[in-house]
Amino acid sequence: MRRRAALLLTLLAVGLPPVLRAQAAAASPALTIATIPSPPARGSVVWLVVTPAGQPDSSRTLDGSAAGEPLHFERLPSGRFRTLVGVPLDGGDSVPVTLRLAQGATSDTIVASLTVSHPVHASERLTVAPRYAEPDSASRARIDAELAQSRAISRQAHDTPRLWAGPFLRPRPSRITSVYGTGREFNGRVTSRHLGTDFAGAMGAPVRAAGRAVVALVADFYLAGHAVYLDHGGGLVTAYFHLSRADVVAGDTVAAGEVIGAVGRSGRATGPHLHWIARYGGITVDPMSLFALPKVEPGD
Ligand SMILES: [Zn+2]
Repeated sequence: MRRRAALLLTLLAVGLPPVLRAQAAAASPALTIATIPSPPARGSVVWLVVTPAGQPDSSRTLDGSAAGEPLHFERLPSGRFRTLVGVPLDGGDSVPVTLRLAQGATSDTIVASLTVSHPVHASERLTVAPRYAEPDSASRARIDAELAQSRAISRQAHDTPRLWAGPFLRPRPSRITSVYGTGREFNGRVTSRHLGTDFAGAMGAPVRAAGRAVVALVADFYLAGHAVYLDHGGGLVTAYFHLSRADVVAGDTVAAGEVIGAVGRSGRATGPHLHWIARYGGITVDPMSLFALPKVEPGD
């Protein structure tokens, strides 16, 4: 069976045409969905919690996608399901979600949309060496190849089982010097967005894993400099840029809080600091949103 059901919570805007909306109203909703925190902000990762209608049934399975990325549902003790979902920084007032709830030989496909909030971001001007503000064609080709390499790590994280258990830890205890989403002008010419969180640190100061993970890549990239990419599984990757040194190699399993390297100023950096990023699949989110993920229910 394939049908579309509208799921009505205050946080949920359902983008169905009128005829489908009427059908949905006539049918009993197969499930309800919510996010924690709510509403989800553009450029964040949040929990998506799905509650199937009726009594808990362990034979039900749930999968789906949101904003073009696969979701990795886990069953909670109550019979509800939860998964991380990444909300891209750029876009409109909602994010599309498609869910497939299966039970025995039957399945329901539910199309919905999550209403999202739009945080306000500041902007700043930076001065870096000219070769970073305007890379030549060879450097640009290298940057593109390195971007493809990091994207492959993000895709691969969808095939890794979830390795982390909350809460996430800060990679540095120090002050934050630049937040995610800040607009940036490099040498008065190139504009971009700052897609990570910068932590202060002296050369050689320790950098710690935010959560349990397998080391997916230790690289020396044009922009990121010496970088460590951690695959936390379930689609989640964090990475640590501009290091002076990496203390891990690809394939290592690291615990939350384990030292993985040291602060440096390699790559495009105005001085020693840690640039920390988080991705859900191909969606780069504010890594600080990892700290807003509570336990969904006791025993999860
Ligand atoms: Zn940064």
